[in-house]
Amino acid sequence: MDESQVKASARAMMPEIIDELAELVTHASCAFPGFPPEPVHAAHAQVMRMFENAGFAVEELDLEGGGYPAVWGEIPAPEGAPTVLLYGHYDVQPAPMEQGWTTDPWTPTVKDDGRMYGRGAADDKSGAAIHAGTLRVFGGKPPVGIKVIIEGEEETLSHLEAYVENHPERFKADCMIIADMGNIECGLPVLTTMLRGHVQCTVEVRTIDHPLHSGVFGGPVPDAFVALMRLLNTLWDDRGNTIVPGLHKFDWPGADYPEPLVREMAGVLPAVHINGDASIGSMLWSQPNATVIGIDGVPCIADAGNVLLPVARAKVAMRIAPGADPKAELAKLMAYLEENAPWGVQVEVNEVKASDAFMAPKGGPAMAAAMDALRDAYDGIEPSEVGSGGSIPLLETLMKASPGAEFILLGAEDAKANIHGANESVHPDEIERMIVAQALLIQKLADAARD
Ligand SMILES: [Zn+2]
Repeated sequence: MDESQVKASARAMMPEIIDELAELVTHASCAFPGFPPEPVHAAHAQVMRMFENAGFAVEELDLEGGGYPAVWGEIPAPEGAPTVLLYGHYDVQPAPMEQGWTTDPWTPTVKDDGRMYGRGAADDKSGAAIHAGTLRVFGGKPPVGIKVIIEGEEETLSHLEAYVENHPERFKADCMIIADMGNIECGLPVLTTMLRGHVQCTVEVRTIDHPLHSGVFGGPVPDAFVALMRLLNTLWDDRGNTIVPGLHKFDWPGADYPEPLVREMAGVLPAVHINGDASIGSMLWSQPNATVIGIDGVPCIADAGNVLLPVARAKVAMRIAPGADPKAELAKLMAYLEENAPWGVQVEVNEVKASDAFMAPKGGPAMAAAMDALRDAYDGIEPSEVGSGGSIPLLETLMKASPGAEFILLGAEDAKANIHGANESVHPDEIERMIVAQALLIQKLADAARD
């Protein structure tokens, strides 16, 4: 198929693709424990229908160990052609109205800006729509081998990682397309090539062996929470750079993230600074960033008494730069917290988790073809390389299962999509262009294999 045929095909199918996506958004597929299972199964069934409507046979895949099934489909590669794996997920984050939703999250609503609003419209039900649409361009019979995996537990405890580890041969592919990303600005194509990793630990500070009257003993006797705050405060300098020594970091080599856009997207209040000495792209994608995500042992304001606290705990999380060893970065963080407690207080630091960052292997044919395909799909606009501050541990597992595979990370989750937040949305044009890009990528890979 040539470019104009692919574009015409994508254009023609869009009304149906959007109807299918809208139906998918109505199913509140939160796979977290405690949420009703029926909508998750209904979403699974709808994804099956979307691929069947594309002319591509899929089945229910039991990922073993309980949990929700994935959607799986596979066709062998024609002689000499590569195999492309298409990944997405149909489960979503919860969408409590208190987040600030202005429309019902489970009623897909198209607003004047042309975007469809609803939980999961972007993350990552749009990925299922893009993959189904891509196969539909070829009438379900693309000129490469295809493996489709749309899982239902990406946002919660996923059984897919263990399944991939136990069945690596099923996931062998030359190219993995992960449609769970997006452009920074709608209409400007990007390829995501690196993701930060994520480590966490808890830190506990003890100062006295029982609570004390804060008037009788306050002054000479240190309070545990005050000591904890002083300790946590050593993680950053005055400009908000994380200053744990020895952490891996580098300057982001690709496109930057414009300051006005980060202010708008993050809702940064007017006088609040944008932190860091490096560029925003670097601060988001290639520098470590520590944050405190929970505190224990401190009464809430309503229960506050005049008491010196004997013990206080915090959970510290840190995003780590691509290329860093998560265990090593966590060890540096933990040692730093142990060494920097003030006033000789007792400190105990415990490991919670260390997940890998990700760097897409460079220099392969699929990455080059993807850049070409994105340029074609976006009418000649040059695609740029960006990172992602979030982490997808599955990518490292897929890489181990299929060494040498190339990874193409893209999708319709542009910065305005506000995934995981209120009023999540997707622009149908992004879905259409991503269908075109993926179909052109597949065609280019097939053509290259034939030449
Ligand atoms: Zn996602």
